[in-house]
Amino acid sequence: MVNCLLCNRSLTKKLTISEIVFPGPIREQVVCKVCFQKFDRYSSKDVCRGCGRENEGELCADCQRWQQQYGWYLSHRPLFHYNQAMKEFMQQYKFQGQYHLRAVFQQSLQTVINQMDYDLLIPIPVTNHTMRTRGFNQVTGLLENIRYTELIKHREKQKVAQSKKDRQSRLKAKQPFFLNKRISLQGQQIVLVDDVYTTGRTLYHAAELCYQNGCKRVQSLSLAR
Ligand SMILES: [Zn+2]
Ligand SMILES: [Zn+2]
Repeated sequence: MVNCLLCNRSLTKKLTISEIVFPGPIREQVVCKVCFQKFDRYSSKDVCRGCGRENEGELCADCQRWQQQYGWYLSHRPLFHYNQAMKEFMQQYKFQGQYHLRAVFQQSLQTVINQMDYDLLIPIPVTNHTMRTRGFNQVTGLLENIRYTELIKHREKQKVAQSKKDRQSRLKAKQPFFLNKRISLQGQQIVLVDDVYTTGRTLYHAAELCYQNGCKRVQSLSLAR
C-alpha cells in the first residue's frame, strides 16, 4: 500500500482509460488529490516575460530594473505560488530535512523541463555549510530523474543564509558563484533551476556567470515563487 507523502492517506490508484488502452510506464502517484490541490499553479497567460509574475503586463517593474542593471533580463518560469501549502512543504523538505519529500514535485518539474529547449540544465548549488548541515541540495533532489550538470559552485561559505537576509542586502550581494569545471559554454542554451525565486538575485548572479562565459541564452525555472 502506498500512502500520500504529505497527509499519509492511502493512495488507491485507478487506471485511466488511456492507461488501459495504451499501457506504458504508469505515472506513480505520490501525493493525494486533496493535498496536491492546495498548491497553486502559475498561469502561463498574461505573465511578465521576465519573472512569470501574473497580471503584470509585458515586463514588470522589478524585471525592468534587472534589465537596466544587466542589459538583459532572465526569462524565468515559476511553477507554483509560494502559498501556505508551499511554505509548509518547504519547511518540511528543506528546513526539517525530510529528503523523501523531493518526490512530491519531481513529476511537475520533469513535465515542464521536457518541453524546454536547452543544452545544459544547471541547478543552483547550496553552500558547503548547508551541504554539511542539511545533507542535501534541495534543488538536485527535485531533479532526480532528469539529466543535469552541477556546473556552478559557491565561491565561499556565506555567513548569513539567504533566507535570513532582507531584500536590500540580498540585492547588493556580490557574485557568490564560480564555474566548477572548465567547460566551454560558448553558444550554449542554459536552463538554471532553483527551488524558490524571491528577488531574483541568486538566479541573476548565476545567469551573469553563464553569459560572461559565452552562453547564448539563459532561462530559468523555480518550483515556487
Ligand atoms: Zn494527502
Ligand atoms: Zn517580472
